Amino acid sequence: MSETTFTLTVLGSRGSMAVCGQEQTLFGGDTSCYLVRAGEEALFLDGGSGLIGAPTDFPHTPVILLTHLHLDHLLGLGMYPRLSRRGQKTRLFLPAADRESALRALDGVYTPPYWPLHLSNYAGDVQIEPLRLPLQVGPVTVEGMRGNHPGECVVFRLRYAGKALVYCTDYERTEASFSSLVSFAEGADLVLYDGQYTPEQMKTHAGFGHSTAEDGMELMARSGAKRLLIVHHDPGSTDEELLRRESQLGCSNARYARVGEVIEL
Ligand SMILES: [Zn+2]
Ligand SMILES: [Zn+2]
Repeated sequence: MSETTFTLTVLGSRGSMAVCGQEQTLFGGDTSCYLVRAGEEALFLDGGSGLIGAPTDFPHTPVILLTHLHLDHLLGLGMYPRLSRRGQKTRLFLPAADRESALRALDGVYTPPYWPLHLSNYAGDVQIEPLRLPLQVGPVTVEGMRGNHPGECVVFRLRYAGKALVYCTDYERTEASFSSLVSFAEGADLVLYDGQYTPEQMKTHAGFGHSTAEDGMELMARSGAKRLLIVHHDPGSTDEELLRRESQLGCSNARYARVGEVIEL
């Protein structure tokens, strides 16, 4: 891997709940998880079920960044093999006021009776830390802004080797936050954007905390971002449906995230 390699691998881009079926093979049924490789660093964006089959060996300690604590973004943590390997260190950052509350924040899911043991008791060296932005991971700078989602959600911007990637999932547009988002995404090489709903579905899903691909297109145009990847596909959306919506966008720089694809920045 060259020193300036900067890639994003889609490990899971389904929203809300994991699904499995013949109509959801191309875009995939695993929930939110993306692996960013930046030189020798590895950063996971969210820990959805896509994390379960993720690579486990890296030159440096990998980092998992959680945007928020909704179940679909935590589903894979409990079964990610690296966390059970003695002597292997993984840093897990999540939005919390301090270390103590970061540890407690996972209790709703990863503690008995919901799960056999707390992540901090796994055999691997799992460091659970409160997210403090900006965060430096080797040569990678991680910045954030507050999105708009029930219970809040962080939008990330990762900068490395003169390039930038923006991850905006679980986000519902409001005019005030959208202007901030346009500035935050300015000139990005790649923007991941929550396009869970069609404009028609959006009419009956106001307040659910999600957006449309059309809003993503506007974000790309106004921010001058180079490429757009639509993420957080609705559990009910089939491959056929998503392909149709993708073609309706009519733009070669905008596509819907497919599980397994690797995008070079
Ligand atoms: Zn979600
Ligand atoms: Zn959410």
